[in-house]
Amino acid sequence: MSEQRANPLTDGPADPEHDSTAAYGLDRSYVAALTRRIVSTTGETRAVFSPIGGAPLAHVPQSGAGDVSEAFSRARHAQAAWAATPLDERAATLLRLHDILLDRQEELIDLVVWESGKARKDAYLEVAHVALTARYYARTAHEHLDSRRVGGMFPVLTRAEVHRVPKGVVGIISPWNYPLTMALCDGLPALLAGNAVVAKPDAQTMLTALLAAQLLDEAGFPPDLWQVVAGPGPEVGGAIVAGADYVCFTGSTATGRTIARQCAERLIGCSLELGGKNPMLVLRDADVHRAAEGAVRAVFSNAGQLCVSMERLFVADQVYDRFVDAFVSRTQAMTLGASQDWSVDMGSLISQAQLDTVTRHVEDAVAKGARVLTGGRARPDLGPFVYEPTVLEGVSADMECFGKETFGPVVSLYRFHSEDEAVERSNDGMYGLNASVWTRDGARGRAVARRIRCGTVNVNEAYGATFGSLGAPMGGMRESGMGRRQGAEGIHRYTEVQSVATQRLVPIAPLFGMSEETNAKVLTASLRLLNKLGRA
Ligand code: NAD
Repeated sequence: MSEQRANPLTDGPADPEHDSTAAYGLDRSYVAALTRRIVSTTGETRAVFSPIGGAPLAHVPQSGAGDVSEAFSRARHAQAAWAATPLDERAATLLRLHDILLDRQEELIDLVVWESGKARKDAYLEVAHVALTARYYARTAHEHLDSRRVGGMFPVLTRAEVHRVPKGVVGIISPWNYPLTMALCDGLPALLAGNAVVAKPDAQTMLTALLAAQLLDEAGFPPDLWQVVAGPGPEVGGAIVAGADYVCFTGSTATGRTIARQCAERLIGCSLELGGKNPMLVLRDADVHRAAEGAVRAVFSNAGQLCVSMERLFVADQVYDRFVDAFVSRTQAMTLGASQDWSVDMGSLISQAQLDTVTRHVEDAVAKGARVLTGGRARPDLGPFVYEPTVLEGVSADMECFGKETFGPVVSLYRFHSEDEAVERSNDGMYGLNASVWTRDGARGRAVARRIRCGTVNVNEAYGATFGSLGAPMGGMRESGMGRRQGAEGIHRYTEVQSVATQRLVPIAPLFGMSEETNAKVLTASLRLLNKLGRA
């Protein structure tokens, strides 16, 4: 990259198409092999640049509405055969994917870091999470999907069974913050349940999503089962909602609302994994140093661009000063950077838009009287979108960062005097995604957790304990979402329940010319008897 292009923040990213001194971040034939998979006939492309030095990465082919229809028809065709494939075979394909993900982790991590600018350790966790998801659903396939007998209307006479039938083709619309996890983790249970997928990953992180699709092929999923389309959210995302049998959306609450309306119009289901303004509570008996170390993870993982990361820290009066000292000094010790190096503790934000939001929230808070305990500025010397991990005190309700999601490395500290007050303030606002409680007494932590209106609560951990426990459903209460990923809920959402009941020997109707009145008496007597026998 030329000297005068060294700061893409001010000069714009270098583009080798127009600047012979600029260099692509990735080998062009490697990129072409990935982008070939996009269903696209528009002839249009979108240039993608890396947050690492602004290096150009790709010109990504864009899909039109016709391409999305074509993707759905290919997916529908593949789905019919896939749904008839034995469950054990589908599960074995997921287990092969598990191993391929671990084997190919360096390549995956490189690409995630190129596209997102995140720290390498954060990118590794994506690989681990998707592998965990693949293994969990493969090993629990029968538990979640097998047909089961239920009690019939009359013992012996009525046999009833319940089947799980795939929805058909699932549309998956995902954001950029976890390019690999968000591209794959919701789709794996959909495939296992016998569905096909049409995926629209975010425009900034298409390459990782395409590599993920390539790994699905390598694991042995039928080639047309997972379609990828690219393009602007409202158009291409809208076409996905129009063609899908079910929609899985992850992104902002504002877009989630639009998608919910569109799905309601078509009478199809959707799951919505949306934003949060997550609270962390440090109780008076917490191990202050463990909590401070946990808070660094809770707040600054993925530079705060993590739906379950903490943006509000409530600390008990008795430990407030000690906690703040420990937390701020640990924050100041973090290594920042935008590179492929494992030594980076906190990486870059992904884009100028993210940097703008973070800068605006901090400047607004400071202008209205908040104090910056550490951080509070961009670091263009380290990368175009790097922003320092920032701790604020004195944040009040008139400031943007009080109740709105920043989705960046900024946290507000609040002192509390009683647990009731801490719980009440945690439950304030429209969100209810994730919370974290720190205490030396696990039972007390769990009791406080039960009072917090969030879909997941971690005791003595930030978010990893729930996120990594694949049997535990994950999702939001209130305006943080609808539906759950992970666990039984995470796969059952992709199935229709079909009940089949077979009546034997006698009909459910008056027998042998019996009058309706006599039949009602006989039925009433049998209902009383079944109740006495304790039948459900
Ligand atoms: P976003 O809503 O702007 O975009 C998400 C996806 O939706 C992208 O692929 C985008 O192209 C697409 N899209 C945009 N408008 C659309 C429309 N009208 N119709 C259909 N698709 C459309 O969100 P974002 O800013 O990219 O992502 C960050 C947000 O995602 C944050 O609020 C974060 O909390 C949330 N998030 C939530 C979870 C969770 O599990 N709850 C996980 C990750 C991110």
